[in-house]
Amino acid sequence: MATDKPYLLMTFSVLKRERLSPSFLRITFVNEDGLSFTSWGPDQRVKLYLSEPGTAPPRLPLTEWNAAWQKLDPGCRTARRSYTIKNVRPDKAELDIDFVDHGVEGPASAWAFHARPGDLLQIAIPNGNYIGQPMGYEWRPPEGVSRLLLMGDETSLPAISNIWERIPETVTSIDCFVEVPRAGDDVAAGEMASRITWLPRYEDPPGTKLKKALGYSQMPELSQLKRLHGLEKSVAPNERMWDPAPDTSGPFYAWVAAEGGAVKFIRHALMKDCGLPKSAVSTMGYWYLGRPFH
Ligand SMILES: Cc1cc2nc3c(=O)[nH]c(=O)nc-3n(C[C@H](O)[C@H](O)[C@H](O)COP(=O)(O)OP(=O)(O)OC[C@H]3O[C@@H](n4cnc5c(N)ncnc54)[C@H](O)[C@@H]3O)c2cc1C
Repeated sequence: MATDKPYLLMTFSVLKRERLSPSFLRITFVNEDGLSFTSWGPDQRVKLYLSEPGTAPPRLPLTEWNAAWQKLDPGCRTARRSYTIKNVRPDKAELDIDFVDHGVEGPASAWAFHARPGDLLQIAIPNGNYIGQPMGYEWRPPEGVSRLLLMGDETSLPAISNIWERIPETVTSIDCFVEVPRAGDDVAAGEMASRITWLPRYEDPPGTKLKKALGYSQMPELSQLKRLHGLEKSVAPNERMWDPAPDTSGPFYAWVAAEGGAVKFIRHALMKDCGLPKSAVSTMGYWYLGRPFH
């Protein structure tokens, strides 16, 4: 059914809620509609339609939900927010989403904080029966990519974890910097956990440490940033200066997603200061300090 619709609005119920770290809550959902859903990219985005914690979800239609949502009175319509599919288990109709717990000011964070088994949520999610071109993700490394720069914060850590599981075989060097609210939020498994340069921000404004980390990178494409931004003396917390120089035989690709102001700075540094082409850089503002974002 609906093979021409890339996304459908499906109803999910909460199966389980677990705290992964001081700032992360994982919620496992199960599909209530019996419809097929999937995930195409490691940073596959979905839209959540959030009611007040503990109240019934909106009943928006399966296909033309966006138009229906737009027509609702902005003063009382439900909040809509973007999240990443962390895991899908189609055989069990299950889905995991890792929510940053940043308090109860934002409707999404508040919803996750209060979520209990059985709570319902409508999610616009890739249709498992769609036969067209996959969409809704930005991870598009060039063929033969050999050097990767991954930069993010707690909101893009779910995507970065998924990206680590799909690193192309041609990649010979990776610089990965992730700013998190505090030590203990380094939620990652296996080799990835030790290869990431974790940047706990504590009281620093979001993005401060991530921007500075541009100076830690050993990628030759970024060498002029050290001079331009006075980052010559930057030494990453895990002393990455001992890393061997990266092999420069194939193309470079950067994937960056974090707070919007930091992303703007990094995008400018990569594209204007370093002259990297658009095809070599994917940058996304995942949230904006001091204002809601949907
Ligand atoms: C493609 C995409 C994928 C995303 N994937 C994820 C994901 O998997 N997990 C995840 O947790 N987030 C993810 N985000 C980020 C998430 O959508 C935003 O953080 C969103 O603002 C949260 O909504 P809210 O209702 O909790 O807060 P909002 O109502 O949007 O904002 C309320 C206040 O909270 C502040 N705020 C928002 N987010 C944060 C934060 N992380 N830390 C501190 N303050 C914050 C805002 O500045 C604002 O002042 C993703 C965003 C995009 C665009």
